[in-house]
Amino acid sequence: MKTRHPNPRLAKTYRTYTVVEVAELYDIHRNTVREWIKRGLPTIDDRRPLVVRGHDLAAFLVARRSRKKRTCQPGELYCVRCRAPRTPAGDMADFEPVSATVGNLIGICPVCDCLMNRRVNVAKLGAVSGKLEVTPTQGPSRIGDSPEPSVNSDFTREPETYAKSQP
Ligand SMILES: [Zn+2]
Repeated sequence: MKTRHPNPRLAKTYRTYTVVEVAELYDIHRNTVREWIKRGLPTIDDRRPLVVRGHDLAAFLVARRSRKKRTCQPGELYCVRCRAPRTPAGDMADFEPVSATVGNLIGICPVCDCLMNRRVNVAKLGAVSGKLEVTPTQGPSRIGDSPEPSVNSDFTREPETYAKSQP
């Protein structure tokens, strides 16, 4: 059975493993192991077959696991295309309410220009948005709606005044 989360403890600290042995140990493709090496899993030297220390393998998998768990920091949204948390372009995000308690923070990835979404609890919006400038957008929320229509008499009078002043 393939495992999505290789157990670092399977690697014996004082053993060394070839790429094939690592692949067998975790029942993964050899290319996956080569990918790990490309991404920083240390090998003993450059000679073929490549050999890794069990200790290094375990440490690499622990680091990889914790990196995968890394969630967005305050002020960050997750970019699906980059597969990384990013601070949105311009330090700005829209907040679109989904319900009375939950909404989406929406920003633009500064790297790939994709829209990024982050579902947030309204109560945690302040903590989640960090130093972002958040603009509320339309949604089911009625907060701030005034029952009385605002009257701006100056504005309605303006065109008439203009007309009279024209020669
Ligand atoms: Zn991106």
